[in-house]
Amino acid sequence: MTQKQILIVEDNELNRAMLSEILSDNYKVLEAENGKDALDILEQNRDDIHLILLDIMMPVMDGYTFLDTIKTDAELALIPVIVTTQGDSEADEVNALAHGATDFVPKPYRPQVILHRVANFIKLRETAALINQFRYDRLTGLYTKEFFYQKARECLEANPEKEYTILCSNFEDFKWYNDTFGREAGDKILREGAEIFKERVGENAICCRYNADRFLCLLDKEREKIGREYFVKSRESKRSSLTENISVKLGIYEIMDSSIPVEQMCDRALWVVDRVKGMYNQSIAVYDDSFREKLLREKAITDVMVTALEEGEFIVYLQPKYSLNNNRIVGAEALVRWIHPEWGFMFPGEFIPLFEKNGFISSLDQFVWENVCAKLQEWKEKGDLLLPVSVNVSRNDIFQRSLVDIFSGLIKKYDIDPQYLHLEITESAYAECGNRIGNTIEELRKLGFSIEMDDFGSGYSSLNLLSQMSLDILKLDMKLVKNEMTKSMEKSILNDIINMAHRMNLTIVAEGIETREQMKRLQSLGCDYAQGYFFAKPMPITEFEELLKGQRKEDIL
Ligand code: C2E
Ligand code: MG
Ligand code: MG
Repeated sequence: MTQKQILIVEDNELNRAMLSEILSDNYKVLEAENGKDALDILEQNRDDIHLILLDIMMPVMDGYTFLDTIKTDAELALIPVIVTTQGDSEADEVNALAHGATDFVPKPYRPQVILHRVANFIKLRETAALINQFRYDRLTGLYTKEFFYQKARECLEANPEKEYTILCSNFEDFKWYNDTFGREAGDKILREGAEIFKERVGENAICCRYNADRFLCLLDKEREKIGREYFVKSRESKRSSLTENISVKLGIYEIMDSSIPVEQMCDRALWVVDRVKGMYNQSIAVYDDSFREKLLREKAITDVMVTALEEGEFIVYLQPKYSLNNNRIVGAEALVRWIHPEWGFMFPGEFIPLFEKNGFISSLDQFVWENVCAKLQEWKEKGDLLLPVSVNVSRNDIFQRSLVDIFSGLIKKYDIDPQYLHLEITESAYAECGNRIGNTIEELRKLGFSIEMDDFGSGYSSLNLLSQMSLDILKLDMKLVKNEMTKSMEKSILNDIINMAHRMNLTIVAEGIETREQMKRLQSLGCDYAQGYFFAKPMPITEFEELLKGQRKEDIL
């Protein structure tokens, strides 16, 4: 074990030598002639001085000034200081203690007394540091999770009549931030976050860093409203890098049942905060009973999803796309369905958002893509008419650097031309992460895949986005088409969008066409293709093949 270091601050050379002599068998000794020299030594050995022996009367800087100075530094203030006093001057002793000294030893020195005191104080400080390590998070100074649980429990037990709330905050995309800007920048964000958190929830709240970028807090219900405001306000203010780069999500559990363990209460706040993860339009979620139901359902889905994929419960449906010029099928979109032995037929709305959160979407998408490619290969080998099929590419998929490899691997494996595989990427992914996905999309286009922007006009897009993004096909969201029907031709926004997209050489597909009027309107506006219940619903692949056969028969007749 390396020797512990002791700093002797004493102007009298003889005294210094005596103290050094007493201590040097057991410790490494550093010496300073006055307070100022001692501060310099401390600065260079910050973490490495275990105790200070301090004389009071010294030139340049006396012992009291030295004590006052180190007490202003949170770290240095923790080092035990033993003052050496002249004779048994009570005034000196009291004064030293009042300035924050830990203890004193009188001159003349009694070696055994000094050695014991020094050893005791070093041990005491180490024990305190050890306790602190369990109680306080090193990075942020907030409580650790364990100590928070203990404090929260005590607080709830002591105030059974009061209403409390547990609040959990989480930074969106923190991992990405850390990876991109480095650990130090990430640490800075966490420290700032902790500071703002403490500031907003007030002095009486009990806060901890739960893990990584998640903070927990127990505060009284009234105060919670103010806590909520923190998120609104911190977005407005530009006071920290936190607000510029990262958005904060909040989960709230209002304690209704104080008989459940604190850990479980916290789990509820943590669960709800996870629910708003990745949502662009919601940053706060509150736990309630319906939430519990949803959670249970989600848990049930998560428990069986992997086996469901292995057992072939996921089925690819195809929804045809029609040309508005001649009403002929020009392609299809692959849409997944889950046929569960007990729960029955399930639409993607029930499981895709969950899979996007837990990451399983990548496995499911891979399965859908493989299925579609195998189908395209089969059609090609049979000599059937080949039509392009669009597959949905989720946001999670795009961030996989290997996406380009995956798709080029697929076309090789199934020996198909990339022009038959269209990739649909939702508008919100473009809007949120345009600069992060640009290169991947560019590479895929170079390989010959067509890129479609899905759900255009569903809320995130600006026309500006279109000119910045690399793509081939624009899919108009069904809401855009529905709204259009309430407007006169002169006030038509779709007219402008379609004209502009055509000028950019984009093909336009309208989604969710349900009525003849909608179809007619889009036709007159010059929209190229349409997809919707008016033409056909998504259907099993065999049905789609029948439909195509029918179309071909008509051609022959
Ligand atoms: P999306 O990609 O925008 O797909 C279009 C959705 O509109 C489909 O819903 C389709 O069935 C529905 N739809 C088509 N025509 C009409 C219509 O005339 N009226 C109405 N009301 N709806 C129509 P679906 O199949 O429930 O899928 C919902 C969403 O789930 C999809 O939206 C897509 O974002 C996602 N999704 C579906 N399959 C997959 C998949 O394999 N992978 C991924 N990542 N996402 C998928
Ligand atoms: Mg789609
Ligand atoms: Mg869509």
